[in-house]
Amino acid sequence: MNPYVPTIEIGPCDIGAYRVGNGIIDYVTTFDSGKPGPHVMINALTHGNEVCGAHALCFLLENNLRPLRGRLTLSFANVAAYQRFDPAAPFDSRFVDEDFNRVWDEAVLDGASNSVELARAREIRPLLDTVDLLLDIHSTSLPNAPMLLAGTTDQGLDLARAVGYPTQVVIDAGHASGRRMRDYRRFGDPRSPQASLLVECGQHFEKAAVAVAIETALRFLRHCDIAGPSIMGMIPSDGPPAQIVTRITEAITIRSENFVFERDFEGFDNIARADTLFARDGELEYRTPYDDCVMVMPAHDILPGLTAVRLGRIIE
Ligand SMILES: [Zn+2]
Repeated sequence: MNPYVPTIEIGPCDIGAYRVGNGIIDYVTTFDSGKPGPHVMINALTHGNEVCGAHALCFLLENNLRPLRGRLTLSFANVAAYQRFDPAAPFDSRFVDEDFNRVWDEAVLDGASNSVELARAREIRPLLDTVDLLLDIHSTSLPNAPMLLAGTTDQGLDLARAVGYPTQVVIDAGHASGRRMRDYRRFGDPRSPQASLLVECGQHFEKAAVAVAIETALRFLRHCDIAGPSIMGMIPSDGPPAQIVTRITEAITIRSENFVFERDFEGFDNIARADTLFARDGELEYRTPYDDCVMVMPAHDILPGLTAVRLGRIIE
């Protein structure tokens, strides 16, 4: 299923100390400053094998991060999948029954179906309903430049610009196969003041992804203006490079096992000329629809029904 076998520079960390949290939802801790301010949430382990988020939350917890105003929630989401991590099959612990990041449609959450992931989402949902600003930490199967997924709302893009890191920002509508946590209810509503970001920190098991996750979390908290100066002093003093914003125009879905890219893409490759052949799926040819077409998150495993790559235009 997964011919690409990555080097595992970093695996799961021990999060057992954070199981009890506030005693309401396992592995979810909310700190309340007792003062007015936003409810800010940083979520890790939406996908069980995306370990960088767990390391980032452990960093924040070990450094005794507390909000000076508002509330701060630190959440380890799909712990059941995380606990199944096997270095011999490191992609298999993405989820237990189904993708936790495709169940956030209200009709699905209210529906009759059940799974490990739906049960966990239903547990976290009442808390998420009170969150004003959400950062959801992820990583990618293939090495990719880190990126913020801003969704399609203005407030998502505004939040991405305000955080200012990492450099690549992608405007995308998510997946036809189910709603993401970052698009849940008010986060996907352009009329709502609530906003969310999803960060992809790099390849799942590279150490650099942990540093990206920590820096994104710190810059996110600085923008939210709820944390004290001690932890804010940990942000690298060098300003990050100016952001590049790419709007996804279409996603290419794999139709058959014969899907093949014309060459290896690393992510954010720019194909200069329109009408350049970049993939085939049996008889079907895929060509770039415009000049300077950006290849976003090319897939490493070719499975019919999954997204092969997203095509995007740089808008700034
Ligand atoms: Zn993910």
